[in-house]
Amino acid sequence: MHASIVTLFPELFEPFLRATVLGRAVQKGLLRVDLTDMRAFGQGRHRIVDDRPFGGGPGMVLMAEPVVRAVEAAREAHGTEVRTIYLSPQGRRFDQSIASELAAAPDGFILLCGRYEGIDERALDLLALEERSLGDYVLSGGEAAALAVLDATARLVPGVLGDDRSAPEDSFSNAQGLLDHPHYTRPASWRDVPVPEILLSGNHAAIAAWRHEVALERTRTRRPDLLAPGSAYNPEPTRPSLTDTPTQGSAGADKEA
Ligand code: SAM
Repeated sequence: MHASIVTLFPELFEPFLRATVLGRAVQKGLLRVDLTDMRAFGQGRHRIVDDRPFGGGPGMVLMAEPVVRAVEAAREAHGTEVRTIYLSPQGRRFDQSIASELAAAPDGFILLCGRYEGIDERALDLLALEERSLGDYVLSGGEAAALAVLDATARLVPGVLGDDRSAPEDSFSNAQGLLDHPHYTRPASWRDVPVPEILLSGNHAAIAAWRHEVALERTRTRRPDLLAPGSAYNPEPTRPSLTDTPTQGSAGADKEA
């Protein structure tokens, strides 16, 4: 998997790319992450990348030129079909389906991290970006979101996790898009609380049936939206394709090419 991050703070990514699942994937050659420092494309001796907003108001705005030049530089290391994603609270929600798509994207993907009040809209229009949000809250910058996207995608690449059977059994990823079942480990009784007896039975078919039942029940109670027809994880015939043109009012902020 080949990802590029365009950011004003490349140093934030380096510890993560040395440690954790991401670090191991880089070491094994399963993951390549290029860091593009937006500051290198800033203007003048001080490499200025931001300015005050036209129309007044608080904060600063990232200027179009450094952003566009930084993304164009990052694109040079990818194939022509590279997906470029602007992490933004105004985008469609990033989820497991998109993580799967990105993990398998043949030309990789670029994550653009905003800062301050955001990026001059003309740069976003010119670059024909997809916008993806981590959730309905505002972060100070796109870096924390980019790390989440990187982590969620890298662990789907075959060979990255210790056991390739893990990821397809996780929440959202299993055949029915359910939440995962609960997990238990030794000791069999802890503070007088035993693990469910079925798990000690050695009857694999009965264990699988129990796990499915519990996963279904916890999905019903915690995330009934996942079971609704048309949910991103519910394999109903009516399920909209992720590549469908967004319908009016449902994804107006998405700028997917
Ligand atoms: N003024 C913008 C707004 O209200 O939509 C928020 C700007 S935010 C302070 C600065 C940057 O953080 C954004 O440009 C974006 O890259 C990133 N960011 C903030 N919240 C995010 C979220 N929920 N998901 C992904 N990125 C986010």
